[in-house]
Amino acid sequence: MTSPHIVWFRQDLRLHDQPALLAAAQAGTVIPIYILDDETPGDWRMGAAQRWWLHHSLASLAKDLAALGSRLILRRGPVVKTLRAVMAETGAEAIHAVRHYEPWWRAAEEELADVLDLEDGNHLARPEWVTTGSGKPFRIYSAFWKGLQSHMPPGHPLDPPEALDAPADWPRSEALADWDLLPTRPDWSTGFDADWTPGEAAARERVANFRLRASAYDSARNLPSEEGTSRLSPHLHFGEVSVRAVWHSLDRHGDTETYRKELAWRDFTDGVVMALPDYADCNGRAAFDRMPWRGGREAQADLKAWKAGRTGYPIVDAGMRQLWATGWMHNRVRMIAASFLVKHLLIDWREGERWFWDCLLDADYGNNAVNWQWVAGTGIDANMFGRIMAPLSQSEKFDAGDYIRQWVGELSHLPDAAIHDPEEAGRRPRDYPAKIIGHREGRERALAAGKTIRGEG
Ligand code: FAD
Repeated sequence: MTSPHIVWFRQDLRLHDQPALLAAAQAGTVIPIYILDDETPGDWRMGAAQRWWLHHSLASLAKDLAALGSRLILRRGPVVKTLRAVMAETGAEAIHAVRHYEPWWRAAEEELADVLDLEDGNHLARPEWVTTGSGKPFRIYSAFWKGLQSHMPPGHPLDPPEALDAPADWPRSEALADWDLLPTRPDWSTGFDADWTPGEAAARERVANFRLRASAYDSARNLPSEEGTSRLSPHLHFGEVSVRAVWHSLDRHGDTETYRKELAWRDFTDGVVMALPDYADCNGRAAFDRMPWRGGREAQADLKAWKAGRTGYPIVDAGMRQLWATGWMHNRVRMIAASFLVKHLLIDWREGERWFWDCLLDADYGNNAVNWQWVAGTGIDANMFGRIMAPLSQSEKFDAGDYIRQWVGELSHLPDAAIHDPEEAGRRPRDYPAKIIGHREGRERALAAGKTIRGEG
């Protein structure tokens, strides 16, 4: 009898193009395992919205594994200890896993190095391969994209195994229902079901549908009222489809360079957090450690209004309500809402980043931190704090009003002329808040705060 091989699933919950699963299948009998670990990630334990996704995604993976004659073993606890315990229980000789770049996963991978076989599978190219001439990670995305080209196209996706050899004795598994991943009192996830179907089959279906409209992405992607983007982000985050499978699905589908460039952002952000593991907690530019962010009761009330979508800026409020109701927000509106928090309200970007972490189905350590720091202007890349987005002009430019009408019920009856700024048009309904700060006032306060650290960034 050969000893079994463990497949350690994390954010790679799929059977297609799953090199760790294939490596284990080729080596012998296979024990697939998922470990819910709320200790190892420290402050970055999985947020509430993602737990909803995880529940359904694990159920789907377990079903797909069962169809191959296998099972998904579920355990809770610190990953390293738990994996070592399962190895001892089963006599497994190795663990196979797809490489990850979150700092806590990298630390766990190091601790397990003596028994771990790591495979590439979640990126277009390994982030550590795409570096400057002097071997450093790129700080600017456009330079990264150029550097990535020498590794493109990525390898073709691998087929799933046809069957998996089961061990003579299965180790004990916990029951998914006992993990309480779904919200109950109150159940705030009711709006998620209408928009999302977690799991590999649904991810693959979304890829197949999107490729038909991928060539229109360039023109439609900035319009939040349209289904112009792929909405693959939670599927990609949980690895229900591999990024190289998405990449190759677009071959022969017209000009898709803009979309491919967005896909490559995932690789870029993992390169940043590989070089700067604390990027979700620390300013990329140290001068911002002295930034006079607002605190105290008034700022707390403003933060609460922002989270609830009650700032008096319809485009910001529409985005924040879409986030709460569906676990996702359109990218253009993420930028507007994030900029409003950091610049107009002068609230530390880390507050917004944490709220997104808890509410986003696609919350991702690298993507969230790098995008927040980019919008805030605190990051290692080129954006400047003094570049302030005007929420009202952004709203007029990118929304004909339909997006606001969909998400801000109090304004649904307003005509186009009043929808972006009902207060200015003298049409603000009583149940919709006045602006919590004027645009000019917010802008000037932000610029003045920025000046206090200018020249030291
Ligand atoms: P599409 O436009 O269809 O793009 C395809 C895929 O490319 C996305 O699914 C995503 O995996 C990747 N991608 C696209 N844009 C970006 C980007 N700017 N950065 C990194 N990857 C990108 N994205 C996350 O996946 N997780 C996050 O936690 C996250 N936090 C964000 C926070 C802020 C403040 C901002 C401004 C953006 C954030 N993004 C995050 C990036 C982006 O908004 C989402 O990836 C995108 O809206 C997802 O929708 P989509 O799948 O339809 O994207």
